[in-house]
Order: sequence, then C-alpha cells, then structure tokens
Amino acid sequence: MYTADSGPVTVDALLEEAERKRLAGDYRAGCELARAAADMAASAGDDAGEAAALRSLANQLMRLGGQEEAIAACRKAAVMLEGLGDTVGLCEVYTLQAIPLLELGMHDEALGVLAQARDIAQSLGDRDLLYWVHNRTGVVHGTMGDRELSSEYLMLALSMADGMDAEARFCILNNVSDNAVYEVARLRGRGETVAAGTVLAGALGYVAEALHLAREARHPFREAISLDNFGMLLALDGDLDGAAALIEESRLIAVRSGYRTLESGALQHQARVRLMRGDHAEAIEGLLLALDRAHQAGEKPMAMEIFRELSEAYELIGDHVAALAHYKDFHDLERELHNQVAAARARMAAHHFELDNVRLEAENARLEAELHRARSAELAADNLLWQRQATEDALTGLPNRRSADERLPKLVAAGGPVCVAVADVDLFKQVNDRYGHFIGDEVLRRIASILFDRIGETDLVARFGGEEFLIALHGSGIEDARARCELLRAGVAAYPWETIEPGLAVTISLGLAETAGPASLTETLSVADRRLYEAKRAGRNRVQAD
Ligand code: GH3
Ligand code: MG
Ligand code: MG
Repeated sequence: MYTADSGPVTVDALLEEAERKRLAGDYRAGCELARAAADMAASAGDDAGEAAALRSLANQLMRLGGQEEAIAACRKAAVMLEGLGDTVGLCEVYTLQAIPLLELGMHDEALGVLAQARDIAQSLGDRDLLYWVHNRTGVVHGTMGDRELSSEYLMLALSMADGMDAEARFCILNNVSDNAVYEVARLRGRGETVAAGTVLAGALGYVAEALHLAREARHPFREAISLDNFGMLLALDGDLDGAAALIEESRLIAVRSGYRTLESGALQHQARVRLMRGDHAEAIEGLLLALDRAHQAGEKPMAMEIFRELSEAYELIGDHVAALAHYKDFHDLERELHNQVAAARARMAAHHFELDNVRLEAENARLEAELHRARSAELAADNLLWQRQATEDALTGLPNRRSADERLPKLVAAGGPVCVAVADVDLFKQVNDRYGHFIGDEVLRRIASILFDRIGETDLVARFGGEEFLIALHGSGIEDARARCELLRAGVAAYPWETIEPGLAVTISLGLAETAGPASLTETLSVADRRLYEAKRAGRNRVQAD
C-alpha cells in the first residue's frame, strides 16, 4: 500500500501521482498508486474517483502484460461511469479497453467496444474522442492484417491530430509509422514499389517526429517504441547498420524499464535485420531470445509470430527438421491461442455476470437504504405520536399529569420564584348532570384553552386529572402569582358559556402556594391543595393564596 511522505493521502492525490508515473512511463509504480487510489475511493463510496483510478490502472496494466485485469478494470469503470451519466468518460474507457482486448487476440471484442465509443463520440460531436476512436480502430485493423483499412483509419486520425496534445500526436505518428512497416512490405510484395516508396518516405518523417516528441516528453516507453519503429523503417530503406543501432537502443531502454513486450519486439526486429544481412545463425539466436522474453511477458501472439520467423530462418539455413518443428510450434500455439481466447471470453462472460451482480447489488442497496429511510421516518413519526400520547392529555391537548410531574421539578430548578396553583372546576358534577357528559368535556377543553392562552412561555398548565388543572407560574413572588391567578379565574368566569348551552355558567377555584425549591415540591402541592379546599369552602370562584 502506498503511503505519502507527508500530509493526509487523498484519492485525488494518489490519482494525480499515478498519472504522473504513467506519463513518465513508470507503469509499475503507477499501477500501485492507481490501485491504492481505487481501493480508497471504493471504501469511501466515491464512484467517480474509483472509475478514474480504474482507468489509470487499466491504462498502465496493459503495458505490463496484465491484459485481463486491465479489461476487468475497464469494465468496472464503465459500469460506474454509466451510473454517473459520464458519457465522455464512458467513451474514453471503451477506447482504452480496445487495446488489452487486441493484445489478447480478441479482435471482434476490440472492434465492438470501439464501435460503442464511436457512437458516443459521434453523438456528442466530440472531435477529440473521435480522433482516439479512429486511431485505435486503425491499430486493430492493422493487427488483424488489414493494412489498407488500418491506413485509412490512421490517416484519418492523423488529419485530425493538429492542435492535439503531445501524447495524442505521438500516438498517431507512432501508429502510422508502425503500420507503414507492414504496409511497405505488403506493397513491395505486390510489386507496387513506387507506392511502397511513398509510404516509406512519409513514415520516416512521421517516426522522426514521434521520436522527437518522445524525447521531449522524456518518456522512455514512447522513446523505445519509436526507436524500434524507426529502426524497422530504416531497415526497409536499406540502412541496416542504422537500423541495428536504433533497435538496440530501444531494447536497452525496454530492459531498463521492464517493458518486456517491447524487449521481445526489439529482439525479434534485430533478428529480422540480421536475416536481411544474411546473418542467419545470429538471427536464430536472437529469435530464440525473443521467444523467451515473449513467453515471460505472456505475449502469445508475439511468440506465435516468432515461431513462424524461426521456421523461416531455419529453412534459410537448410535445417528443414528444425524449420518443420518450429512450424509445428507455430500451429500448436495458434491453436492454443485460439483456445485461450475462448477461455478468456468465458472468463470475461463470468466477469460480466459478476458485474451484473454488482449492478444489482448496488440497486438493492439503494432500495434498502430508501426503505430504511422511509421506515425510520415512519418510526420517528410513530415515536412522536407515542411521545405525544404519553405526555399529552387527549381531551384538552394540555400536558398530562405524568408530563407535569416530570416538568415541574425542572421548572422549579431552573431558578427564580415559582408559584404553583391547583385549579378545580366549581360544581362540575352539576354541569355533567344538567348538560351531559359531552358538554362537560367541551367545558374542560374551553377552560384548558382559556388557561393556556393566559400563561407565559416559561409557565406551565397541565391537566392534573378529572376537572383539576395544575398551573406553575414563574414570576416575582406570591403576590404577582395571585394577581395572575385572579386573571385566570376572571377569564373563566367571564367566558360566554351561554354560547355553548343556554344557562351554562362555569367558574373555577384556585389554591396557590410558593415553592421553596424542588425538594419541597410535594409539600407545596399539598399546601396549594389545602388552599383550594379553603377556596371552595369560602364560596368558590376565588383564589386562595394564604
Ligand atoms: P366542587 O366545586 O366541590 O369541586 O364540586 P364538583 O362537582 O366539581 O366536585 P366533584 O369532585 O364532586 O365532581 C367532579 C366531577 O367531574 C365528577 C366527574 O364526573 C367529573 N369529571 C371528571 N373528569 C371528567 C371528564 O373528563 N369529563 C367530564 N365530562 N366530567 C368529568
Ligand atoms: Mg375536583
Ligand atoms: Mg370540582
């Protein structure tokens, strides 16, 4: 796992460093950083970060022979980018994915992802994206052996490369010159020497520019690959010494940087130059070494080509037994490669299935989270209702006895003098008896609201039970409280009860006491209760405060 020298490591920082390594051609370090970035983004649920890290990873893995892993990374990134609605990113990933598919010999799949990329690029009208699609499509057709079609796509891309960055320009110049190596041989084989000469002259110009760009960018991978192409083009131009020197330079860079595919390619090309010179034995030696490197890199298509070349080289020196043996090797490997592509296809289908599962799981997780949120909200609402039921009096909406018992000590503890009154409806039994229980209930509701409207924010009025109410008043002492209780009493007495039922009149009596602190609350309440009794005895509809 990567650790930074200083400061907190972020996905962005890791990714930036991974891309820096990639641009410097240090794919081994770049892969490690990209992997760390992907892991970190994944654990943070950062899809955009993870997709970017996977792209960087794929882009570098495929240079180190990790084709299947690169394809898997591309696919995962594609799913995420699809989810994020990032069509540009999706197009870029498809274009990227074509390379490892091609390296594995899965040409149809490579053309398939490029077709998807082309659709997106065209629908977006994005020239840059389209440029890359044409560029890669040219490479795929070239590898499939269709050099003419390859040239068409590559030249189309080249015509769009003006104003592109150095990386884009390098890629197309390099691809055009690489394709020219084969195209020149093909044209010469058909006797079209003039056309071959034109292509070769153009390619020599392109490859020189590519090499210049690679060196300017101090990019060893690009330098090695363009040196190798340059060497092959020089060889076709008849400069075998120049060719050998450039290809050897390419091979040394490849060895130094661990580019095994390039190393194998350089060995193979050196052997080709030796064959042109007539140094057959040396060429065979070089091809055997190239074969070894190709095996190490797991580059079966390359190994296959080397077997064929070995067979031809042995034939040239008259060793028909060895020639036949290597021809057989070539065919065996061709068959193996065919089976391997089939197996890789099967593995990728399995991976596709896994990705579908990932998609499904993500959707399930989303739904579950939504359900959970809905349930929590419902539960919170239930809870609120339950809390209300537990603390609120259903008839009047005032705090109930239980709530009053809980709030009263807090109110008293909050400081300042607190007076407590117990209010009781006068002769309420008669109200029920005369007007019925429903009117009785309505009277209780109206009294509750009369009391509630006349108390302050820090005061309390609760239904204490039956037709009794508890009132707690914050204030400047018993006299102040008495005056306010008097207002409550008068408010009830003055209420137009007749509007409810003709003849209805309602009054309340109150017993008032001042608290000496939370500890003496029970005592205060019983004093208030006693004074209420006194108020009743004294004729009702009055406040008793002493
Ligand atoms: P006093 O002035 O001495 O307090 O006389 P009172 O009739 O109010 O006293 P008593 O305690 O004899 O009667 C209280 C009545 O209040 C009895 C009961 O039926 C009635 N009551 C208690 N709770 C409710 C209620 O929720 N709704 C109705 N409608 N009546 C209730
Ligand atoms: Mg009573
Ligand atoms: Mg009563």
